[in-house]
Amino acid sequence: MKNIVFNKDAFKKSVSDNVKNLYRKTLTEASRQEIFQAVSYTVKDVIIDQWIATQHVLDRDDPKILYYMSMEFLMGRALGNNLINLTCYNEVKEALAEMGVDLNLIEDEEPDPALGNGGLGRLAACFMESLATLGYPAYGCGIRYHYGMFRQKIKDGFQIEEPDDWLKNGYPFELKRPEHSYEVKFGGYVSARTDETGRTRFVHENYQSVMAIPYDMPIIGYNNNVVNTLMIWDAEPKQSFELDAFDKGDYKKAVEQQNLARNLVEVLYPNDNHIAGKELRLKQQYFFVSASLQRAVDRFKKNHADISMLPEKVAIQMNDTHPTVAVAELMRILLDDEGLSWDEAWSITTKTCAYTNHTIMAEALEKWPIEIFSRLLPRIYQIVEEINRRFILKIQEEFPNDGDKIRKMAIIYDGQVKMAHLAIAASYSVNGVARLHTEILKKRELNDFYQMFPQKFNNKTNGITQRRFLMHGNPLLASWVTEHIGADWITNLSYMSKLAIYADDEKMQQEFMNIKYQNKLRLAKYIQQHNGVEVDPRSIFDVQVKRLHEYKRQLLNILHVMYLYNELKEHPDMEFIPRTFIFGAKAAAGYRNAKLTIKLINSVADVINNDKSIDGKIKVVFIEDYKVSNAELIFAAADVSEQISTASKEASGTGNMKFMLNGALTLGTMDGANVEIAEEVGKDNIFIFGMSADEVIEHEKKRDYDPMQIFNQDQDVRKVLMQLINGMYSPNDPELFRDLYNSLLNTQCTQYADTYFILADFRSYVEAQKRVMEAYKDEKNWAKSAILNVAHSGKFSSDRTIQEYVDDIWHLNRIKVDLDIDE
Ligand SMILES: *Cc1c(COP(=O)(O)O)cnc(C)c1O
Repeated sequence: MKNIVFNKDAFKKSVSDNVKNLYRKTLTEASRQEIFQAVSYTVKDVIIDQWIATQHVLDRDDPKILYYMSMEFLMGRALGNNLINLTCYNEVKEALAEMGVDLNLIEDEEPDPALGNGGLGRLAACFMESLATLGYPAYGCGIRYHYGMFRQKIKDGFQIEEPDDWLKNGYPFELKRPEHSYEVKFGGYVSARTDETGRTRFVHENYQSVMAIPYDMPIIGYNNNVVNTLMIWDAEPKQSFELDAFDKGDYKKAVEQQNLARNLVEVLYPNDNHIAGKELRLKQQYFFVSASLQRAVDRFKKNHADISMLPEKVAIQMNDTHPTVAVAELMRILLDDEGLSWDEAWSITTKTCAYTNHTIMAEALEKWPIEIFSRLLPRIYQIVEEINRRFILKIQEEFPNDGDKIRKMAIIYDGQVKMAHLAIAASYSVNGVARLHTEILKKRELNDFYQMFPQKFNNKTNGITQRRFLMHGNPLLASWVTEHIGADWITNLSYMSKLAIYADDEKMQQEFMNIKYQNKLRLAKYIQQHNGVEVDPRSIFDVQVKRLHEYKRQLLNILHVMYLYNELKEHPDMEFIPRTFIFGAKAAAGYRNAKLTIKLINSVADVINNDKSIDGKIKVVFIEDYKVSNAELIFAAADVSEQISTASKEASGTGNMKFMLNGALTLGTMDGANVEIAEEVGKDNIFIFGMSADEVIEHEKKRDYDPMQIFNQDQDVRKVLMQLINGMYSPNDPELFRDLYNSLLNTQCTQYADTYFILADFRSYVEAQKRVMEAYKDEKNWAKSAILNVAHSGKFSSDRTIQEYVDDIWHLNRIKVDLDIDE
């Protein structure tokens, strides 16, 4: 610990003292959970000094600050990563070992703060970490859901959702900040009055309201003393704060406000890339956005009298459309609270807000019925109406003789408020998250907007933090890399390219494969403990972990497993390298085909894993409760990274990058960031298959794709599909998988049969899988490719992504924090 002068004896004493003070126990009497709490409080003590010092620098230097607004932050555990970024992980591990305590077991006591669904929430978490490491002042703004992403249990092969009570033991890395609470108002009506100057004032009346209470979590930069803040908002009824005499007697109102507060932040909606359209969700959105903006404006006003300076000191990034009410809320604050004119307020808002688009899938594009929106947020709705009115005038100016454009581009149309249109109209930057995705936005999905505002559109290819996904998740590989090329990669991943010269070195290849083997052993042990299945660490670990969604095509993967099993049964002596197919995925609770796919994977696993005749050549494992903490073990152990989405559907993907960084070879379509991974690593070190995005989009336009043709012509496909409905994997209920069969072939059950082109890509996938097996036979060449994957992962650090956001969108300056700054 270079910065904070780690003192082992002081650390040990502090841990013992904390156990004593918190639990009235000695270390030997304390449970692992209690020791986790004690260790965390000791670490927090160190963090607090840096946190205070960082705040003092912000107060002194008054730099521009980013507010990253996101409904989701999929943080994963904090303890291990905090220790890594404080550069005292090994010292703490050693100190605890001397006390008879294993740090890894203590880390396992921490619940994953799973305040997110998948990629979008994890991106926000990686961004927070990179911002702190690069020294950029930033607040993450989100919601303190009392129950995060549900815990997944598998019972009889089916997904069961259990509540994730992550706060039940108290979370040591959060700090309640009631002194920064704000009121947020819902419902009621707006009345217009003329004030003494003759100006129209809008007054919100008869509303319900809650108090928003922020909890701060420290976000620690790597080895730089910078501690940024993730500010997540909890809700409390207003009663416990201040009550005017009128409210005191209003029992009904008191109960309503209590219920509102209780429900508001109770749960995270478990939908990934799909809208729920529930009123409560819109309430959640406005709740955290309003509180965060009130805080941001207050902080600004502490140092500045001139509100027009706001864009010079505040940047607001909206992670997808979920926080888009921010543009109207900022307008409200500027108009109603600050008394600005519309033009002044609009000028400030459109220089402050920027929007990131995460998907082009129709079912994920947020729209709110006017009825709900205007009833819940009457003043905000008025403002959106005025933004829309002026925007339509602009559209008419831009496209004078094209009435269709208004239908396609208006913010309010057909009884609905379209959040993406609002975001684009009011933002100075609109970015996609991978090159292909941004091109599709510009050329197709958002082409009308691109024609109108070409200068707003830009690409920011996603990234991941190497501190969590290599240093913490794969310490063996991290140390090996550092031994050979030094430690610069930790804060500048482009240095990884120095590894390339070792790719042909046989000794290095052996060392690499040995590390991979150790990590496979570690995962095999986890699988043995959690699934009771024995897997061979010498087999190919072929992994698909990500949210379960039809477009991600876990079904294609498991159909191929069924096909491979048929082949092996028919040709028992065929050349075959043992393969372990590993899946991990949560399905949204109401998503029937997704849940049925989980059941299918588990049923196939049951049959194949118990078939003695194939000699264990294929194993299928479904890892329960896929989340950041077990993800770290999984990436480290993977040989093959399955990134097989229908081309054009996956905006970027970030799982693909984590696998690459850990030396897995990608088997994927030319979709999302896979395109850029292929470009970086070279075509000899990746397995690409399937239709291109252009081909998919062309078929969608022409509606000329007929999966039945493939079914009729390809007997292997036909055999596998028949096994979905002949009871082979569900002898007690042969109809169980009928819906999956129908989704591929039957136009009556889904609007289009095989919407995600699974049968169209099946042959190409089979061939690519054959190439994988051929390649693995040559272990040296495989090792070379794996090393080259690590070597060429530099582009995919979220440090690179963040620097691009800073250069092109946010224009922040780095801060420098010295610990002796004040005392
Ligand atoms: C990275 C990550 C994701 C995103 O995975 P994709 O393959 O990009 O969809 C989802 N969940 C967890 C826990 C992750 O770590």
